[in-house]
Amino acid sequence: MYKIQSTDTLKEIMGSYFRSLESGKKKIAWCTSVGPAELLRSFGFEVYFPENHGALLGATRSAMDYIPEAVKCGYSGHVCSYTTADIGSYLKKETPLITHYGLSGHPKPDLIAYNTNQCREVQDWFQFFATEFSCPIVGIQPPRHLDEVTDDEVALVVKQFQQMIPVCEKVSGQKFDLDSFKEVVKLSKEATLLWQKVLKTSTQKIAPISFFDGTIHMGPIVVLRGTQLAKDYYTQLLKELETNIIEQKGFLPEAKIRIFWEGMPIWGKLRMFSDLFSLNNTAVVASTYCSSWVFDKFDENDPWNSTARAYTEIFINRSEKAKMQMLSDWFKEFSIDGIIYHDSKTCFNNSNAKFGMPQRLKEITGVPSLVIEGDLCDLRFFSEGQSITKIETFLEQIEENKYSVNG
Ligand code: SF4
Repeated sequence: MYKIQSTDTLKEIMGSYFRSLESGKKKIAWCTSVGPAELLRSFGFEVYFPENHGALLGATRSAMDYIPEAVKCGYSGHVCSYTTADIGSYLKKETPLITHYGLSGHPKPDLIAYNTNQCREVQDWFQFFATEFSCPIVGIQPPRHLDEVTDDEVALVVKQFQQMIPVCEKVSGQKFDLDSFKEVVKLSKEATLLWQKVLKTSTQKIAPISFFDGTIHMGPIVVLRGTQLAKDYYTQLLKELETNIIEQKGFLPEAKIRIFWEGMPIWGKLRMFSDLFSLNNTAVVASTYCSSWVFDKFDENDPWNSTARAYTEIFINRSEKAKMQMLSDWFKEFSIDGIIYHDSKTCFNNSNAKFGMPQRLKEITGVPSLVIEGDLCDLRFFSEGQSITKIETFLEQIEENKYSVNG
């Protein structure tokens, strides 16, 4: 049975991160998952990410207990189920943070910051809590869906980042310190480059980390980037995976098909999918989702421009043209045989199968695609039986085509 041994360390550091949110030692800033966490950390904030909590509610399948609470308050059951599950969990005063990590409840924010680089939903979501806690809120609204991100657009985002400074100074009680910001950006860059190397280990024929493993091991790059802890964790994980490559150990050594996962994970069904693909001798080796926390443009010598650029250039914030180029490059790099698009009911922003991109991308790359319908947290939008049938048929077709081409 293949096991990534670093998982034990992962559990320890994630546990200590969550407990630190209630230690009272630091002020707490809430931030979107691809928001300016480095700037917040440079003011000494501990940073809490409600999307990570949304994923926890999805993975523990408790989201469906909470979504109706948000719906009662006027939030549509068809908008982001991270948002509705998180708000509902707060209203019900229940969270896995209590049961799994011993917290007394949802961490209380001193400051809330969001970045609409991923979607505008985060603005409504975070505003709910700013009102609820009478808490200062700052927002970054970068240009969206760009082919290329130019210096003009970067300058606009830098200006918005810098407008956060007076609020951060007031709430934290600390003056902005450029050296501290540079140091956090440096640590964040080092961790993100290690995370990128971790993901690239699965370009190997015997891949040591699957997409499903990646959704677990990405925890520190989401919630702890900009800290020594994240850097140390990915140093350890990378070392283990590189050793596994040398020893020819992987999660599915005899994989016949290599798949790319596009879109959000279906958090409550990760194990089911992982087993399904293994049973079908298929390795899911790469994804847009796990790659979303690779910010390889970070540069501590140019902290403002580099962070503004990295956070504006993310996959979700790009045009179809840019997305197709990125996907084509990943297909080649990871030797992909097929792509599965998760068309998520409540996340329009991270679903790329609604406007014909799968067909256009197939014309360019020749890589076959399948669209499955589901949701990140709300399993009422997911049909397990139908999805299994679609996936197994898709994999059979890929194998038949490979056989007819190669045989
Ligand atoms: S990107 Fe999708 S899942 Fe994430 S916060 Fe926005 S709507 Fe929700």
